[in-house]
Amino acid sequence: MKIQKVIPFKTREGISQELVQQLLQKGKQYGLNAVFPFSTGKIVVAQWVQLKCRYGCSRYNTSWCCPPATPDPEKAQAIVNEYSLALLLVGSTSCVDFYLNNNRKRTKQVRCWKGTVSLERMLFLKGYYKAFSLVGECCALCKTCAYPEGCHFPQEKRPSIESFSIDVIGTLKNLGISPRVASHKNESYSYYGIILLQ
Ligand code: SF4
Repeated sequence: MKIQKVIPFKTREGISQELVQQLLQKGKQYGLNAVFPFSTGKIVVAQWVQLKCRYGCSRYNTSWCCPPATPDPEKAQAIVNEYSLALLLVGSTSCVDFYLNNNRKRTKQVRCWKGTVSLERMLFLKGYYKAFSLVGECCALCKTCAYPEGCHFPQEKRPSIESFSIDVIGTLKNLGISPRVASHKNESYSYYGIILLQ
């Protein structure tokens, strides 16, 4: 989702500030500029989100990281309910190729994807064994997704946030962030990932 800059909000307890800073330092290598812990009770899962996938998105039924390959809203909510703490990952970029499927666009997507999955790995090694990424945008590790054939990089395969039926804007508002949808492809915008933590 392409959303303009955010207003930072107050972080919550449950993970040390030291580890959050370590995650941020690593995340910066991948273009992230903020990492915020928050309660999963703030995550909004809604049925209508998959309408946006099913009607109006060319990626529907073409990727392992998008519906219908990903959990339905009820299952997604049940999974979120198994966590109490999550991390919001925030990056900023601009991308004149946002609506295209070219190498420049893919390079940005892959960087974002690898950043989120590498932070998840770091958290797992720190003892957060339930850590699981919901990544911004769609997986672009392959030029064309192998779906429905076997994924070429199954260790890095994760659902996108939207495919998990998460209302990103509603969730950001719950976190005290006032997002605005970028209306022109030349505008810079913020992008988001979530790591379900514990
Ligand atoms: S790694 Fe390749 S095959 Fe697997 S989900 Fe991503 S794009 Fe599809």
